[in-house]
Order: sequence, then C-alpha cells, then structure tokens
Amino acid sequence: MTTELNDNELARYSRQILLPEIDYSGQLKLAQSHALIIGLGGLGSPVAMYLASAGVGQLTLVDFDEVDESNLQRQVIHTESRLGLNKAESAAQSLRQLNHNTQLNVITHQLDAAELAQQIDQADIVLDCSDNFDTRFALNQACFKAHKPLVSGAAIRWEGQLTTYDFRDRQSPCYECLYKRGTSTDQTCSQNGVVAPLVGMVGSMQALEAIKALVGLPTLMGKLMLIDGLSMSIRQFNLNKDPGCQHCGD
Ligand SMILES: [Zn+2]
Repeated sequence: MTTELNDNELARYSRQILLPEIDYSGQLKLAQSHALIIGLGGLGSPVAMYLASAGVGQLTLVDFDEVDESNLQRQVIHTESRLGLNKAESAAQSLRQLNHNTQLNVITHQLDAAELAQQIDQADIVLDCSDNFDTRFALNQACFKAHKPLVSGAAIRWEGQLTTYDFRDRQSPCYECLYKRGTSTDQTCSQNGVVAPLVGMVGSMQALEAIKALVGLPTLMGKLMLIDGLSMSIRQFNLNKDPGCQHCGD
C-alpha cells in the first residue's frame, strides 16, 4: 500500500492538497482507497473518471453490458471506436489514458451474491451506478452487512436523485427505508428517456460524495437530494432510518 505521496503525485494533486479539508493526509487516504463501481453507464462514466483523476488508488469496474450506439449520448467514458466492447473494459481503456497510476480491476460478468460480498469486502466504498431495483436492493443489503458506505445515484428524464448510505454508522438509513421491495417497478432510460448532462451532474456528485466519505468529511447521509434539471432546482429532504424497515429496522 502507498505510504507516502511522491513528487509527481504532490504536483498532480496539488489543487486538492491545497484544500484544508483534504490536505496531504486526505490525498494519501485517497491514494490508499479502493472504490467499487457497479455500472459503467451514464452515472458510472463521470464517477470513474473523477475518482481516477482525483487520485483514488484502486477502482474495480463491474459491468456485463456492451457499448451500444444509443449509449454514446450520455455515457461519456465510451467512444465510437469501442461500440460492441464490454463497458467495464471500455471504461478501463479510457481510465488508463487518464491516470496510469490508478490500479484497475475489470469484471465483465454479473456478480452473484457471494462474489458481490467478496468484492465489497475488498473495497472501502461502493458506488451504485446501476439502473435497476434488483441491483440496488442487492447492493444495499451487501453494503449494510459489510458496514461499507454506499453512494447511490439515479437519473431519468430531467430528474436526478442522490444520497449516501454510510453503513459505517448504524444510524444511517438504508435504501429500503426509502423504497419498499415490490412496491416499485423499474423505469428505464430506454423507455422514458434521459437528458445527457443530467447523468453527468448526478455522477459527478456521486464522485464528490465518495471523496468526502473516504477522507472523513460529512456526506449526504440522512438526506436525499433531488435535482430537477428542467427548472434547475435542487432540493434536500431528510431521510431518516425507518424503525420499521424490513431490512435495517430494529
Ligand atoms: Zn432501512
């Protein structure tokens, strides 16, 4: 594990090290950190690019899907020349050019429950950049069990939402405090549409939340942020732990 930043890293990350909330110690923590990114689509693109460029030492990229022409409108980590390639592999190709110091692990198949638990155990933080409830519930359960922070983002049409479930803190609400199993059906971008920069906004905010969680700064835990790109309004609601939650309740 990295025990100190070299001269190259000090120069490269100087604009972040200048921030008193991050400083040398925070940047070193980022270098020593491992983020697990589930989904390399519209949200995962900015998440992966910003975490790599900001100096997070190790990223595990998980996606079983392939780059399709209809993805390029918003999934900015992929390129025309990589149509048909697995998205995790395509993302890794961009990230290697962005920051050769980032250690990348590429997973191109869907993880079963045991594999997911193993990957989460090895990570310091998990970013939910998926597009379906099954994955979201599975990540919520596995991160809760492993006491790992989970940064959750979603975007559809002109609307985005964002929060961090920080299961290092047992007072954190969980995804099932917000959505009950079986009460919602997936809404997909392929059916409902989504405006391109909105996923960039939500994904960038997820990366920001991850950096704060990794260096020990307060996050959105306990709050749900809703973004309306059409009216350009951002609102926050309290999201409390539900004592009757089927998953995390008492
Ligand atoms: Zn809960």
